[in-house]
Amino acid sequence: MPSQRQPTNSRSASRSRANSSFFDEPEDDRPDLPEPQDSRHEWGRILICGGMDWERNATLPSTKEGGKGIQLQIEDHVVPVKPRYMSHLKITKVISGPRANYTIVIDLAGTAHVFGRVPYFGMVNPTPRNKWHVVSCDEPLHVPGPDGGKWEGGAVGEAHFLLFSGNKVYGAGDNRGSPLGLTGEYYADLERIRGPWERGRTIRQVATGQTFSLFLDSAGYVYAAGKSEFGVLGNGSTGEVLLKGGKIGFTYQAPPKRIKEFGNKRIVSIACGNYHAIALDTEGIFYSWGSNQYGQLAQEHVTESLVPVPFDSCRHPVTAIYAGPASSYIRTEGNDTQMWGTGKFKLVGRGSSSAPYRDFEDLEVPRNAQDFGVGFISHFVTVIGDDDVQRTYAWGQGATHGELGLGADFLSASEPTPIEQLENIEVLSIAPGLVHTVFLVKPDETLEERIGNAAASSSEEEEEPVKTGPGRQPGRGKGRGNRGRIGGRSRASYVGAFREKDKEKQAKAKDRERKKNKEKKLAIERWPPIESGDLCLNCDEGERDDLTFLECERCEEGYHMDCLRPPLWELPDGEWFCPRCEQSAYEWSHPQPEEPDELDSDSTGPDEAA
Ligand SMILES: [Zn+2]
Ligand SMILES: [Zn+2]
Repeated sequence: MPSQRQPTNSRSASRSRANSSFFDEPEDDRPDLPEPQDSRHEWGRILICGGMDWERNATLPSTKEGGKGIQLQIEDHVVPVKPRYMSHLKITKVISGPRANYTIVIDLAGTAHVFGRVPYFGMVNPTPRNKWHVVSCDEPLHVPGPDGGKWEGGAVGEAHFLLFSGNKVYGAGDNRGSPLGLTGEYYADLERIRGPWERGRTIRQVATGQTFSLFLDSAGYVYAAGKSEFGVLGNGSTGEVLLKGGKIGFTYQAPPKRIKEFGNKRIVSIACGNYHAIALDTEGIFYSWGSNQYGQLAQEHVTESLVPVPFDSCRHPVTAIYAGPASSYIRTEGNDTQMWGTGKFKLVGRGSSSAPYRDFEDLEVPRNAQDFGVGFISHFVTVIGDDDVQRTYAWGQGATHGELGLGADFLSASEPTPIEQLENIEVLSIAPGLVHTVFLVKPDETLEERIGNAAASSSEEEEEPVKTGPGRQPGRGKGRGNRGRIGGRSRASYVGAFREKDKEKQAKAKDRERKKNKEKKLAIERWPPIESGDLCLNCDEGERDDLTFLECERCEEGYHMDCLRPPLWELPDGEWFCPRCEQSAYEWSHPQPEEPDELDSDSTGPDEAA
């Protein structure tokens, strides 16, 4: 390894040097591109599968060992579960990445919630040796948008992340090599990243790799910051510099500078791998630059490309681009949609050959792809089938933590396999991470039923509950009767009891049995399991025939409808949250800046001593 020139360790010293020159580019009057239209449901709930033991996830044996000998752990979810304590958030965006052992979600109020093994952010006394902040998704970090604004998006790398709102971009985490376009060594708080887009434009997208970041503005300009190695900054240089003793180092670019090579082309989408970058313009042309070590640029005869190069052998316009660690994927729109990939990844149905692809190959996934996602090993595609059913397919060879969501028997899959739990559930977007996957799903009846069935079956003691992990059974309910209970998890059982009475033919009973078994198989658990009380939190009485008992979707505590203040006169439509959880949802989405702890300072003050 060549030694590298490190930025200064002192934040204050580096700040004084950060006298940026980003206004040296001439202004121009290029108009904004129209805002991309998004017809999907405005918000959703999240489901998670894969490794959620964030500390341990990060100590994976190298993939060379093929993950052999790794035992599934209690926090490995081999099928999607609903993270209970985040279930009351209305989420609009999920952000993770192939190298990220953490995730950021943004809610309808524009507040970001961060969980997983988070680099630096929110730590009191971090150091480069102690930089990981392990945050459970039971209690994520809440990050309000800047200056009362809403977070609109972001990007996460292995040890740094970015968030943006309007024309303001912020970064946090490890900044050695300036991947954030900042000049300090690390940031435990969000730090504003200044750039030329601030002159009258807004940010549409940010993307980040191991050593660099890209910024896309509303006029279709792309800016790059970070370490210039492999030409990832797209400025025609690898930035190699000769250091003392004949060693090679690389220059860093901070603040971000515009990639001029695009000329009058206007970019609508960007994505970053570890050490390569891709972009898509308004005409459906794909561009690539940076490292081509594994063929991830789909450019012939080059090991790296120092400027963006258009890929013009596509017969059909490219409509979406995605980057894996050392791979690139495009969706084309011909007679039907088609997914293609290049670089280092295992291709479906082509055996175990690990030779990388140096040109785009047909991924051979079902047509009509809606969305695509790529993690460290995992791949996902959502497809609307000919039967109008939305399915989410997963594959990836060597996956070990359940991040594919296919169950304990299919930890690793070499061809696209539908995730049963997600059948018919509208997946709005997918955020695969290092060894976990977050799905943003539409909150509808299908989803409620799946979750209701998990709860219902867990309270039927005589039946084998749905297994979602090895050696572990979901939390069992208290086995209380379902009589008189409507809504929440009791709904499925209630309908079942009603049908039992009307004495249909045996054949129909068998059908029901089959359906029930399938429902159980498809059920989605809330995680973690909890034990909740049997009594109404208001009147301390249990279930009564004359009063409807409601159960909270999140904490599973109950209230009689009439005991709520104000009382509820009609059965709630869909999910119901108790007043405490509603309050929590509000507080999580509207976090207050922390007040200085006056009591604390008093107790150590002279008054206390006297
Ligand atoms: Zn009551
Ligand atoms: Zn509750």
